[in-house]
Amino acid sequence: MHLNPYGEDAVHLAAALTNRRPESAGELVARCRAAGLLVEGPGTPADLTRTHALLDAWEAVVDAADERERAARLNLMLAAGTAHPRVTDHAGSGWHLHYRDEDLPLGDLLFALVATGTALHLVGRGMHRLGRCAVGECATVFADTSRTGRRRYCSARCANRDAVRRHRAKHPAAG
Ligand SMILES: [Zn+2]
Ligand SMILES: [Zn+2]
Repeated sequence: MHLNPYGEDAVHLAAALTNRRPESAGELVARCRAAGLLVEGPGTPADLTRTHALLDAWEAVVDAADERERAARLNLMLAAGTAHPRVTDHAGSGWHLHYRDEDLPLGDLLFALVATGTALHLVGRGMHRLGRCAVGECATVFADTSRTGRRRYCSARCANRDAVRRHRAKHPAAG
């Protein structure tokens, strides 16, 4: 996975890691690789710690009260975790942009990827396109990359669950 122009892969990876936090460095590496990230080396406890700090910061971006707060929180992440942009072909698979230094440990690499990916996603698709499932007890985080940008649920299952509940509230006799 490289940073694509809309940051789509990066925000989906951030949401997946937030919803089920990795419990070990090995799990973190395995899940990043499964998502298509080029990871060299085994991953360390420091990578895991850095990733949890990243996810804490990212969750605060998701839960920001409004667009201004969301931008301010994201700008803090960009300031803390990115470097000047540079053009690279490190994997030999095509030239693309990095907003980070070369040869970073996985935790720092993820921080830069998620911060820039989220910035590209929000300014490219709309500042509202991060959220939590509208089913209160679910609260799963999602990045809205839908065509309409009106996603409210984490899954079709939660959308159905809510539809049934609303129907029952309207028609109590039907049970
Ligand atoms: Zn790259
Ligand atoms: Zn849900």
